[in-house]
Parts: sequence; structure tokens; C-alpha cells
Amino acid sequence: MYEIVIIGAGAAGLSAASTAIMQKPDTKILILERGNKCGRKLSASGNGKCNLTNSFFEKDCYFSNNLSFIEQFVDDNSPNDVIAFFEKCGLLVYEKDGYYYPLSDMARQVTDRLLNICASHRVVIEYDKCVLGIEPTDNFKSYLVKTTDNEYKCRKVIIATGSNSYPGLGGTECGYELIKNMDIDMTEIFPVLIPVYVDDDKLSIAQGVRINAEVTLDFGDKKIRERGQVQINNNNLSGIAIMNLSCYLPKIEQALLKDCFYIDYLPYMSWDKLKSYIKNQCLDDICDNILSVLEGIFPSKFAKYLLDKLNIDSQIITAKITEKQINKITSYIKKMRYTPLPQYDNEKSQASLGGVNIDEICADSYETRKYEGVYIVGEALDITGKCGGYNLTFAILSGIKAAQNALDNL
Ligand SMILES: Cc1cc2nc3c(=O)[nH]c(=O)nc-3n(C[C@H](O)[C@H](O)[C@H](O)COP(=O)(O)OP(=O)(O)OC[C@H]3O[C@@H](n4cnc5c(N)ncnc54)[C@H](O)[C@@H]3O)c2cc1C
Repeated sequence: MYEIVIIGAGAAGLSAASTAIMQKPDTKILILERGNKCGRKLSASGNGKCNLTNSFFEKDCYFSNNLSFIEQFVDDNSPNDVIAFFEKCGLLVYEKDGYYYPLSDMARQVTDRLLNICASHRVVIEYDKCVLGIEPTDNFKSYLVKTTDNEYKCRKVIIATGSNSYPGLGGTECGYELIKNMDIDMTEIFPVLIPVYVDDDKLSIAQGVRINAEVTLDFGDKKIRERGQVQINNNNLSGIAIMNLSCYLPKIEQALLKDCFYIDYLPYMSWDKLKSYIKNQCLDDICDNILSVLEGIFPSKFAKYLLDKLNIDSQIITAKITEKQINKITSYIKKMRYTPLPQYDNEKSQASLGGVNIDEICADSYETRKYEGVYIVGEALDITGKCGGYNLTFAILSGIKAAQNALDNL
């Protein structure tokens, strides 16, 4: 009989296994993984560099239907816990602008490090094993974990099955089905941290442009601001600021979506300053035409996009530009409004909003209330982080906490 069976070999499952085995090296642990590889999302995270955590760690960095759980998680934990865990694992990290990465800048090495710890302590990993059910035996003192072709007896079970986001990296519904079969309640799931499709037929003119901007979501009486990179694509916007914005959209009523967000493409310059800059450039007669003035501020493709949207001839000579046109150009740069389209790309989604209802678990141990000794951790739960290392932080720290609790109660 195994002492702990961990279902899913992602960031949460591997952190749980490494914690348990470092704390008590003779623990009998089995990891059952549905795919033929471990840590596929972890190894691809942060564009292959793995953004592990972030020095800015506030409740606003997370989303859940259970706000008090977010508060408790943020109060009880810190990015230093993630850094300390990896130091213990023998992996150093570095910080850049608050974002933490492994020193190697290679996400794959994070997965390999956790796998090495497991392998050197004889943690058993079985691949191509999709867990279909977990049955209590001995009056909830042990469990039978059932796959398509086998069953395994154990004392404790840690469910770390992740979400259905990004199927190309192993995102799957299988974990949700397993959890629902156990009569554990789940909240509605939405793909988030995705590009946002918008109602703008001129967007393709600026395709490929990246600008550091400020995005404001403005609906009802709420205003939410995100600063960061905005990337313009053929028919959608992406980049960190937009991906974060995508976390709010699923909960906004359809009627409030029209023009619900705007972008300030030059957040570091006030409206007045920008207007007088453009006006002076036109008066100075240094640039031949208005396009050339705007090309001094933005990439050429973006300058063309702006003028096309405003229906202003890009070749119009600066002397002929009117005050009204300068006002319009300034206003568009400072506050370009967009309407998101109901087009959600689960294929590219870096996380899922929603998951196991937090009321189903004890918030300090991640043990389920219905099944003593069964824990649920990581992205399978109804807590989602913004871009910036918050999802890995949660997956890792919840995995650690559950493993410690399971060991303490073996
Ligand atoms: C492209 C991309 C980039 C990202 N970059 C970052 C980043 O830089 N920083 C950050 O914080 N977050 C990032 N994320 C999010 C982060 O990777 C995830 O939130 C995190 O990996 C989730 O860990 P997890 O262990 O909960 O789930 P997963 O890593 O998804 O692991 C779940 C595992 O369970 C297995 N499984 C599922 N069901 C079953 C079953 N029934 N039986 C057996 N096995 C099962 C799956 O095959 C999978 O291996 C990124 C995500 C993506 C897709």
C-alpha cells in the first residue's frame, strides 16, 4: 500500500511529492499521470523561462468566487516561501522588476529539478494513467485510486489535476470529471489569460505592434487599470495587460460589454502635454506630414492605424492640420475604446477561471471536507492568478501545504 498517491504530475503534484519526500525520505509515494510527460505547462511557462513568483503579492492578484480564501492565502503566504522551497530543492532564482525566474532562465530545469528529487528518493511515477475514481475503504482511513487498467490502495490522496486550459500542453477535463464523480461541487469554468478579440476592422493595419500602455476596464461603477505591454494582432489584442483584463470579462453582463475598455497608448504623457507636443511639431514644420509627426512617437504601422481610424489622410501636410484634428488624434491616443467580442480561445488560455468550490476544502490544509485524507491543490481549485507568476505560486504553495498536512496525519 502507498502512503500517498498524487494524481497529476504538474507544478502542484511535483511540488507536493518533493515536499513529502524531502521531509520524510522513506515515504511511499506514487504519482499517477494521465499523459506521457511530467510538468508540461511548468516546462513551457513564462515563454520557456518560468516566471515562478512575484514580489508584488496582494489579494488583487487573484480571482475566486471566494474572496476570503484569497485574503487568507495572501496573508498566510509570501513569494519568499516559493523562493525558499526552490532553494531547499537546490535551485536558485533571480528577480527582475519584481518577477522571479530560475537562474538558468530555463523552465525545463525547474521540472527536471523536481523530477530528480522524486527519482532519487524512489517516488514511483506511472505514465498514461488517467484516474477515473477514488473510493474510500476502511471507513475513510484508506482509498482505492482507480485508473482504466489498475487500482492502487493508499492512505492519502492529493488531487493535482490542473485545469482544462491550453489542451496543447495537456489541459484536460479529466480532472474535473473525476472530482464531479466524487460529488464535489465545482464553479463555472471560463478560459482566461487569453488574447481579447475586439470589434475593430482596422486593427490588422497595426498587426505585430507592441506598446507599453495602460488598459482601463470601465463598466458599471467599476474602473480597473492594468499597465503593461499591449500587442496588436490581426483581430485581437494580447500582451500582459490584455491577458489580465481577460480575467474580468467572463463575469461582465453582455449589455455592459459595449466599449467597456479603453487603452491609453501613451500613459506617461498627459493629454495636454501630448496635444501641445503634436501641435508644436505641426507648427515647427520639421515633419512633412502628420504621419511623420506620429512616427516620432509610435511605430509606423500604429501611426497609420490611428490615422485610418480617424479618417485623416496620412499625407496631409502639417500646416493644414486643424486644431480639431489634433484634439481628435490626442484623444484617440489617450483613450482608444474597444468592445470585446464573445470569442474565447481555450487553446491559448494560460489558466481557467473557476474550479473546485473553495467551500469543499479546508482552506488551511487543502483537505476536502467530504473525504478525510483527500486533498485538492493547484489550478483545479477555484482560484486563478494574473500573469506574473501567481498561478505557479499558488500551485506550488498549495501542493507543499497539502503534502505537509498529509505527512503529519499519516
Ligand atoms: C503557455 C503557458 C504559460 C504559463 N506561464 C506561466 C508563468 O510564467 N507563471 C505562472 O505563474 N503561471 C504560468 N502558467 C500557468 C501555470 O503553468 C499553471 O497554472 C500551473 O502549471 C498549474 O499547475 P497544476 O499542477 O495545478 O496543473 P498542471 O500543470 O496542468 O498539471 C496537472 C496534471 O494532471 C494531469 N491530469 C489531469 N487529469 C488527470 C487524471 N484524471 N489522472 C491523472 N492525471 C491527470 C495532467 O495531465 C497534468 O499533467 C502558464 C500556463 C501556460 C499554459
